[in-house]
Amino acid sequence: MSFSGDVKRELLEHVGSARHCLIAELSALICACGRVSLEPPMLEIHTENEVPYKKALTLLQKAFNLKSLEEQHVEGGGWSLRITLAPEIYTVLSACGLVQRTADGWMLETAPEERITERSCCRRAYIRGAFLGSGSINDPNKNYHLEFVLEQKAKAEKVQRLLGEFGVEAHVLIRRRFSKDIYVTYLKDGSQIADVLNIMGSHASLLRFEDIRVVKDVRNQINRQVNCEAANLDRIVSAAVRQTEDIRLIEERLGLDTLPKGLREVAEARLAAPDASLMDISVQLGIGKSGVNHRFRKLLEIADSLRQSKS
Ligand SMILES: [Zn+2]
Repeated sequence: MSFSGDVKRELLEHVGSARHCLIAELSALICACGRVSLEPPMLEIHTENEVPYKKALTLLQKAFNLKSLEEQHVEGGGWSLRITLAPEIYTVLSACGLVQRTADGWMLETAPEERITERSCCRRAYIRGAFLGSGSINDPNKNYHLEFVLEQKAKAEKVQRLLGEFGVEAHVLIRRRFSKDIYVTYLKDGSQIADVLNIMGSHASLLRFEDIRVVKDVRNQINRQVNCEAANLDRIVSAAVRQTEDIRLIEERLGLDTLPKGLREVAEARLAAPDASLMDISVQLGIGKSGVNHRFRKLLEIADSLRQSKS
């Protein structure tokens, strides 16, 4: 089972006790997978997956005493919940802040009214409902990505705004799906995704997520260290290669025995051990590292002046 599926199954068990929270979560679920119309009145929650369907059923039963709730499992076509009595449809929709009464009758809202998510507990419940109905999270072993896919911009921005109130910075982008624009509220930062799991109350998933994140961080740190050591080694080797070239040039043009004794010693040590470090040579000759370094610089000057005189 996917990491996303595990998170959703955990959230299914998380049912608030306060009615305001049940309604906030239901409101988000209707926004994510509801089919709503007023002419004629219709309220249906349709999901591909069993988990959000079960959650919607629980919320409707706990928050409302409905007589006209129809459940349906369409083989291969998902699950649906339908309320058939018009007064009950209005009761649910207005409780969820999804319709407004006007002088001419009822009007659909583009996103739930603000009062639905006034309380912090209800904001958490709303984010939980939105995730159950429209969200997914990638396996953290692969990459960090959490998203909510919604059909209207106002709904995507509402999720973004609510996350922002918990200090989570999500982005909204438009994606093209089946020749239709959809809106994706997403985040890619590991620690912020962990925050979202915490906000929704999926604590077991949060622990798993953080375990994986720690292992990944340590692995990255080790990789960085190894790369850094490899780069150091590269530098040592390329310095040694340059020194060897300088010495070969001097040997060819002047002969090593024309060099002062100190320089000749270092030159011979380098030719004898092309991959020795400065420290190795310093130990071998019994002189300080800076002394060895100084003598290589002198050899470099001689080689450079030979190159110049040639050109
Ligand atoms: Zn609440």
